[in-house]
Amino acid sequence: MEVKAYAAQNETAPLQPYIINRREPREHDVQIDILYCGICHSDLHTARGEWYGTMYPCVPGHEIVGRVVKVGSHVKKYAEGDIVGVGCMVDSCRECASCQEGLEQYCENGFVGTYNGQERDGSGYTLGGYSKQVVVDEAFVLKIRDTENLAGVAPLLCAGITTYSPLRHWGVKKGDKVGVVGLGGLGHMAVKLAASFGADVTMISHSPSKKQDAEKLGAHHFLLTKDANEVAAASGSFDFILDTVSADHDYNMYLGMLKRDGKMVCVGIPSTPGQVPAFSLIMQRKTLAGSLIGGIAETQEMLDYCAEHNITSDVEVIDIKDINEAYERMLKGDVRYRFVIDMNTL
Ligand code: NAP
Ligand code: ZN
Ligand code: ZN
Repeated sequence: MEVKAYAAQNETAPLQPYIINRREPREHDVQIDILYCGICHSDLHTARGEWYGTMYPCVPGHEIVGRVVKVGSHVKKYAEGDIVGVGCMVDSCRECASCQEGLEQYCENGFVGTYNGQERDGSGYTLGGYSKQVVVDEAFVLKIRDTENLAGVAPLLCAGITTYSPLRHWGVKKGDKVGVVGLGGLGHMAVKLAASFGADVTMISHSPSKKQDAEKLGAHHFLLTKDANEVAAASGSFDFILDTVSADHDYNMYLGMLKRDGKMVCVGIPSTPGQVPAFSLIMQRKTLAGSLIGGIAETQEMLDYCAEHNITSDVEVIDIKDINEAYERMLKGDVRYRFVIDMNTL
């Protein structure tokens, strides 16, 4: 079926209206009318070909919230009218050890991304949520229990789970000294989540204008990386640092802020590789690690946790025609703290 969308035709073209084809729902598929779609910095990296292998036309968008309009004959979890979410994945092999453990994002045969992913049946590559409708296997569809503020829930599908998963995996708990680097879409969710787990949270930012907001979001302290005195004073002080920065930056400055046995986890994905000398890690037995989104079961757990604790994203809802301007503003760090597209405007 033909569906309205917005697509980038190549690395330098702005996103523009484009008609795509979606499959008719198969036995296990759910057809969803998209209500809101968040704008993740990964959408921009991909649309502009900043990583590798973007396929064009590219329709980004993996923070999808919508209403079920049709279900396949074997669908058990969802019915017409349900409010549901779709995050960064729409399929995986479901057989490998990672899939069996509910870690589909680490599928040994490669998960299928919501956009720019290869369909497992060979039918082509996937197109994301900057569109009116999407058709997804029910195994990769999430239940949305908090239906009060759907625009604020949409970013949980990527920014929420990408920060929740490492905080849980590395066991961040009450009293831990946690630093969150970068106050953007991911960073603001990390602050809210880490604070809700009882951690002592410091926002580590290069933008002096974000201090007040960081505190409103739940950060207990603010560290401005442009101030050499503040950086020096933070030396050896954190148990855990979550790095959400999208641009090239020096990891070593942040590693210097870890305590002995401290851990720094990268979720931000700059386009050029950083350099980390062994000395940055060995002197105080530090760990530098990475983490990718989260599995389907953990995404549901996070959505339910956020519903229970009244956690949503702080959003600026935009018309889809303003998408290119939103990208430029995101690059300037001028977003508080997630753009979300109202799909009624498409
Ligand atoms: P965003 O909203 O644009 O936020 C990025 C933040 O990085 C900015 O708000 C800014 O915070 C900081 N920053 C920007 N330029 C900087 C610089 N030159 N030096 C230091 N800090 C800088 O982006 P996002 O949507 O949160 O995404 C962040 C990154 O995570 C992207 O690379 C994205 O692709 C990646 N990502 C990864 C995963 C995963 O699974 N690992 C999932 C989703 C997204 P301050 O102004 O506070 O410094
Ligand atoms: Zn994302
Ligand atoms: Zn697998």
